[in-house]
Amino acid sequence: MDTQPQTHDPYALAARLSGQHLIDGRMVPAVSGATFDILDPATGQIMGHAAKGDGTDVDVAMTAALRAQKDWARMPARKRGELVAACGRKLAENAEEIARLMALETGKALRTESRVEAGVLADVFVFYGGLGSELKGETVPFNPDMLTVTMREPIGVVGAIIPWNVPLMLMALKIAPAMVAGNTVIVKSAEEAPLTVLRAAEIINQVLPPGVMNLLSGFGPDCGGRLVAHPKVGKITFTGSVETGRIVTRTASDKLIPVTLELGGKSPMLIMADADLDRAVAGAVSGMRFTRQGQSCTASSRIYVHEDLHDAFVEKLTAAVDKMVMGDPLDEATDIGAIISPEQFTKVNRYIELGESIPGTRTHRLSRMPTDPRLKDGLFVQPVVFTDIPADCPPAREEIFGPVACVFRWTDYEEVLAAANNSEYGLAATVWTSNLHTALDATRRLDAGFVQVNQNLVVQANLSYGGNKSSGLGREASLEAMLEHFTQKKTIIFNMT
Ligand code: ADP
Repeated sequence: MDTQPQTHDPYALAARLSGQHLIDGRMVPAVSGATFDILDPATGQIMGHAAKGDGTDVDVAMTAALRAQKDWARMPARKRGELVAACGRKLAENAEEIARLMALETGKALRTESRVEAGVLADVFVFYGGLGSELKGETVPFNPDMLTVTMREPIGVVGAIIPWNVPLMLMALKIAPAMVAGNTVIVKSAEEAPLTVLRAAEIINQVLPPGVMNLLSGFGPDCGGRLVAHPKVGKITFTGSVETGRIVTRTASDKLIPVTLELGGKSPMLIMADADLDRAVAGAVSGMRFTRQGQSCTASSRIYVHEDLHDAFVEKLTAAVDKMVMGDPLDEATDIGAIISPEQFTKVNRYIELGESIPGTRTHRLSRMPTDPRLKDGLFVQPVVFTDIPADCPPAREEIFGPVACVFRWTDYEEVLAAANNSEYGLAATVWTSNLHTALDATRRLDAGFVQVNQNLVVQANLSYGGNKSSGLGREASLEAMLEHFTQKKTIIFNMT
């Protein structure tokens, strides 16, 4: 059992965690001994390295997870929940250490993002920990002389594949319900962010029996792909790109195992003429996740503003974003950190250049590049607001996953609803109005899994979250998510006549 003391030095922590997996209760290197480098996005320096897992490591983790699952499933559900809640409390005690490592590893600012996410990680465990006794079945009216019941049983070993943008929260939303439901888990972390989740796993492992939670790092096809293809994995829960989601689903469907998918988004904000302007501006700043460099699938990146408010809205939005401080993610003064990787950096800049080159489009480049010489090779991108941009160009239609918002003006309600729904995605949407009729009508007609009026909150435990169309399959973050996605129902008939 690990009893490592808490450290607030993320560099020392990264060095200690480097090159390890968590399998069967122990920190171990990859069987091959191979590792890969992890970049500090704010400086461009290598901040640590991760174990490079492959199919052999998946096999070792699977053996441990299968063995642990038998006893874990036999434990009373409420007891499992108590243990998961205890993990939440331990994670909360260590939240600052986790947050600092996250800021270093992902470039997400400590004050505005990393600390918040470390808190959410703990909260999700505490939330699901309380739901052990909700794993109820039903009695079914069938034959009055017989007793017919359903039971909710675990699926077995769940493979959880997570991305780099909010890795702690997304890991928690997958594994906490899976484990309370009696499954054991194998997590495959993202290449860009393997160490922070490993530290969280190490803490969770202080509470849970060995083998209940296992964590591997490695490359997508070599490690994640092998996990999906493993003959013994019972279910895959995945968050990532649409393209990879399709690959994962193809493999899973060949094997006839269930998948839950959280994929991309291009979420609309509909601002009506009667909206509270300041609230809508604040909602656009938070909804666009400028503090996360826009690296969010829920980012409100298509902002439709009624003609009457358009110019005032743009003025206030650009002023608000311009005031934000971009810089060292570990500095308490920083609002906006760095983009995760050179690939994403290039992709985001390509979209910005493309938008800028479209005749008639106005580009507002906001905030200022950091001046600290230590950050000169960091992956910083100034937030951009495009106005008067055509709705059918790639920056306006495709998911950029960067700090780029497109603002459109509108006058016709039916047209703007159609425009908002005219997307391959359907993850989230917001409506800004003081008219109850408009709020009811628009929320009913928007094609998205999560719709909010006059606010733009982030995902929270107990709010069902997930998308329509190419944004995904299934829902996370709620009691139903645990029941529907991490259990299978058994019908039992007692004919004792
Ligand atoms: P992004 O473009 O945001 O990195 P990806 O979908 O590529 O999104 O990655 C999300 C997660 O999926 C990561 O953990 C990645 O390693 C994993 N992954 C990538 N390719 C595959 C694959 N072929 N099979 C399984 N997992 C994969």
